[in-house]
Amino acid sequence: MNLIFMGPPGAGKGTQADAIIKEFGIPQISTGDIIRATIRDPKNPLGAECRSYTDKGALVPDDLVNRMVDQRLKQDDCKVGFLLDGYPRTVVQAETLDKLLAAAKRKLQHVLLLEVPDAVLLERITGRRSDPQTGRVYHVKFDPPPADVAPRLIQRSDDTEAVLGERLRQYHEKTAPLIPYYSKAGLLRRIDGQGAMDEVRKRIFAALK
Ligand code: AMP
Repeated sequence: MNLIFMGPPGAGKGTQADAIIKEFGIPQISTGDIIRATIRDPKNPLGAECRSYTDKGALVPDDLVNRMVDQRLKQDDCKVGFLLDGYPRTVVQAETLDKLLAAAKRKLQHVLLLEVPDAVLLERITGRRSDPQTGRVYHVKFDPPPADVAPRLIQRSDDTEAVLGERLRQYHEKTAPLIPYYSKAGLLRRIDGQGAMDEVRKRIFAALK
């Protein structure tokens, strides 16, 4: 199963991805995670460059992200399929992905679009905290952490109200054009991302049937 998971920041892609990758036994490829690992690695010369974009809520240049995804898709665990989370984010990235997949004689099965209005995203994003030990993501109000875990949780430096405005602007300007792109290709599956986590998960699995 070769899948793309699209949606604005805070739509719940990361949360819902867990259930999808377990069901289909495929790896989740999050370009945001790859970029954050690059930034954390003191030996990686690309870290500082990536950070200069993520800190502002801007997109990392296409050629850099495309190379990261090309390398990742060639790894063995992607032979059974993949769930791309947060990629592609521009039409140039989508066109590159089409070429990479065609060269590997592979096809996309579905592009899931998780839709959530901008007004709801702010509360979801600013309350998001992650556990550096396990990678588990919580929400201070909607999915509160256990008391023993809470003190070690951290907030992503770009999960602030100030940076979110720019991330949303980038989404509407650069990523939203992928909606007609994949709709024309007959791959787009729109999913209402509002409501309880379980409800959203059921809608996703219904769309994948
Ligand atoms: P995310 O974790 O998907 O919200 O991504 C966090 C940040 O990483 C984004 O705001 C961008 O700066 C960068 N990023 C992640 N994926 C991409 C991508 N496909 N293209 C460009 N920049 C990206």
